[in-house]
Amino acid sequence: MAKTTKSDNPAKTTGDPTVNSAGPFDVIVIGAGPGGYVCAIRCAQLGMKVACVEREAQLGGTCLRVGCIPSKALLTASEHYHQATSELAAFGVTCGKVSLDLKTMMAHKDKVVSDNTAGVSFLFKKNKVTHLAGTGKITAPGTVDVNGKAYKAKHIVIATGSDSADVAGVKVDEKTIVSSTGALALTKVPKTMAVIGGGYIGLEMASIWSRLGAVVTVIEFAERILPGLDKELATTAARAFKKQKIAFKVGHKVTKAKRGTVTIEPVAGGKALELAAEVILVAVGRRPHTAGLGLETVGVKTDSHGFIVTDARFASTVEGIYAIGDVTTGPMLAHKAEEEGVALAECLAGQVAEVDHDIIPAVVYTEPEIAAVGQTEQALQEAGVAYKVGKFPFSANGRARASRQIDGFAKILADEKTDQILGVHIVGAHAGTMIAEAALAMAFAATAQDIALTCHAHPTLNEALKEAALAVAGHPLHI
Ligand code: FAD
Repeated sequence: MAKTTKSDNPAKTTGDPTVNSAGPFDVIVIGAGPGGYVCAIRCAQLGMKVACVEREAQLGGTCLRVGCIPSKALLTASEHYHQATSELAAFGVTCGKVSLDLKTMMAHKDKVVSDNTAGVSFLFKKNKVTHLAGTGKITAPGTVDVNGKAYKAKHIVIATGSDSADVAGVKVDEKTIVSSTGALALTKVPKTMAVIGGGYIGLEMASIWSRLGAVVTVIEFAERILPGLDKELATTAARAFKKQKIAFKVGHKVTKAKRGTVTIEPVAGGKALELAAEVILVAVGRRPHTAGLGLETVGVKTDSHGFIVTDARFASTVEGIYAIGDVTTGPMLAHKAEEEGVALAECLAGQVAEVDHDIIPAVVYTEPEIAAVGQTEQALQEAGVAYKVGKFPFSANGRARASRQIDGFAKILADEKTDQILGVHIVGAHAGTMIAEAALAMAFAATAQDIALTCHAHPTLNEALKEAALAVAGHPLHI
């Protein structure tokens, strides 16, 4: 195969230049986030000739560059700081004077990001995926323009992800009024911070900066934080956050924000209030990124919220064009995008593959962590489904007590007649790791009794899940 040179290919190819780089391709994926890069790798594993277009210098998308990975690097680092300043003494560990070196903390985060994004480049080379560096635009079915050069492919996959949503009247400058991207790169701890939005991104950022010393107020339009999650989870988590001195203004909307001040009003009507905020974070959700992709030219339909309309096999309204990840409907989560990327690749290879969108876990990486999979109690009640509840508090779990992490509970919702698990909701330390057991159980259509009859190692936090399963049948052992 001819080696690609700069003159015959204006898009910079940074995959293995000796393989696959010239096209035509079986598949061109636009966007190298967790949806796109995973789809490209799986297509290549299945024998397809694949290119992946990415406009940013680093591969890995929102998740690796400015989302999941950097936020978890700072959540872990800030939790260590909090532990050293406030928690370790109770274990008999005295630290002397603890100080914060924010520059080193940010350098840790940046290194984690660059190592992870470099890991995607390595995987592209290993799997012989051609990386086309530039902005992709679909000019016709089967043709993608990257920086002025047309590339042909049998299939085009749109995996262009999402951008932060705006709040009317609040202009982000990424310095004092920031999106999550700016909040992950502050160079000093603000004295005060207002977080607009009590969803998972807002709460994770609030946790980081509050642990590092900022006085944080979270403003949420709905009557409670985490409006999409089970109400009992949100209530318990809110109590824990208040103990951590994070303040909340629920049922409030922001009407104005300027450097240093945010103006809020009760949604139900009432007096406006001004809050001082050295940094204002806008975290009101994300919207699909489709601008400049040429969707109108080729006739790919979007819904009223801008998401690309697809069928269960990720096909858009135009033959040969598919969409996965944040740019389509469903939870905007990296693992949802990855699952869709794999399933689509397998469909393109002629296999039968689907994603069960009813079993996508969601995790908020605060302290305590919050994790859920399946239906909430509110959704079951609205749908008129008869269900049983089994609940177990971490305060009665030996491992949680040994770790002084007794806040929260595990809750299982099971069908009243069949005992099949319909939803699992956990708030507590390591809930995000524990939820995997619940997702696996649900994927195998397990009953609560199946979990109850499974031997769980002692002492582990997962014993709380077994006890919750026993509680569904009315006989937990340790409460
Ligand atoms: P993206 O990751 O957004 O990737 C899309 C890629 O396409 C981008 O790299 C973009 O540059 C590129 N692109 C766009 N248009 C073009 C074009 N025309 N040409 C070429 N390239 C283009 N999810 C979790 O599951 N767990 C978490 O803990 C978590 N934490 C998060 C924390 C924050 C602060 C944020 C912002 C998000 C977080 N998310 C988390 C959400 C997660 O990042 C997204 O759901 C996930 O990245 C979506 O993957 P994707 O592949 O659909 O899109």
